Amino acid sequence: MAFTYQCPRCGTASRPYFSRAGAEGHGVRHRLRRHDGDYPVGERIQRIAWVSPVSRAAGWRPSGGDAVAAAVAGLLVVWSIWHAFTN
Ligand SMILES: [Zn+2]
Repeated sequence: MAFTYQCPRCGTASRPYFSRAGAEGHGVRHRLRRHDGDYPVGERIQRIAWVSPVSRAAGWRPSGGDAVAAAVAGLLVVWSIWHAFTN
């Protein structure tokens, strides 16, 4: 079980927190940063089902941008190794 802070004025929800107090702390920071400490009408802490990072990662599928980024990172690693041994 997890908790999230939701602000209907901004249309946002916080990341999940293990404790209600964590989500409430997020709400306090959100109010101060975005609403000058005012309480948005309808804001709430909602209890949500916890999705573990492992099962979230299992559902992840790479996009085209991810493949390009991985290829660029791989080329950079190869170039770094080649550069280290040839200079
Ligand atoms: Zn807000």
